[in-house]
Amino acid sequence: MTILQMPVRQLGMLVNSFARTATCGERVFALLDLDLAITDAPGAQDLQVSDGVLRFDNVGFTYPGAAKPTLEGISFEARRGETIGIIGPPGSGKSTIAHLIPRFYDVTGGSITIDGQDIRDVTLASLRHEVVAVQQDAFLFTTSLENNIAYGDPWAPPSKIADASASAQLHQFIATLPAGYETIVGERGASLSGGQRQRMTIARTLMLRPSVLIFDDSTAAVDAGTEQRIRTTIQAQADERVTIIVAHRLNSLMHADRILFIEDGRIVEQGNHAELLELGGRYRALHDLQNRPEEAAQ
Ligand code: ADP
Repeated sequence: MTILQMPVRQLGMLVNSFARTATCGERVFALLDLDLAITDAPGAQDLQVSDGVLRFDNVGFTYPGAAKPTLEGISFEARRGETIGIIGPPGSGKSTIAHLIPRFYDVTGGSITIDGQDIRDVTLASLRHEVVAVQQDAFLFTTSLENNIAYGDPWAPPSKIADASASAQLHQFIATLPAGYETIVGERGASLSGGQRQRMTIARTLMLRPSVLIFDDSTAAVDAGTEQRIRTTIQAQADERVTIIVAHRLNSLMHADRILFIEDGRIVEQGNHAELLELGGRYRALHDLQNRPEEAAQ
């Protein structure tokens, strides 16, 4: 696509992102550095998703220059429609597991496949189209609500935009605005509450219809109520994809189909909430700790 073929909606975004780049150059360069090591393999093909099965097979990972591995022997499988919860102490490797799926880093042992295709053998663009993390930082462009929601899919018909915003519990609110989806937001436009901004980013993510959706609550700068709403919206279309929830609060993932308890880079317990409580191990101990009366009162 040349710049002349871009829809007006996307051109506006481009101008906006140049303005943004100028103000956060350092962060952009940090991201570029990260990306340099990760490139398309020669002859890489686009990822083809059919059954939507994500598989970790004996995955190991050591950060560049680190003395010891961060992850060892991580194996699990998730099918379309399943939610996998990842919990464990801080620094145990939970976020690292999530970062390997869109290839922010490459595994140093074992493999990650989606429908049998090693993610190192497919094009990065197609992988990152299918594997999307919910952004915590709700950056809004100074343009209409509609354009903000359709950021990743600029040709989307209004019905698709309305669907995504309904799933993200935004549609009703937008319908009360005099200009509806044409309302201009951003620095000089209407201001949205923190919760509404967060729902905008979820609507944006849902527009992309990813095969794997990652939500990392350990980086979420939101209160428990907002986080609960985010999870509800994520679950709205969960049957269409694999959902990975990385959590430090047990409440965030107790409804997951399978929960992996990570300690020191290894899966030490796995099962659903009831099974892990029954097991009476580390998950149970964390559950009891987080449900003490003084914690519950907070
Ligand atoms: P968790 O999500 O469970 O808190 P992380 O996956 O963030 O754990 O981190 C696991 C380990 O990897 C920690 O010891 C952390 O210090 C280390 N680590 C995380 N990110 C990096 C990085 N970019 N470079 C080197 N070490 C890292």
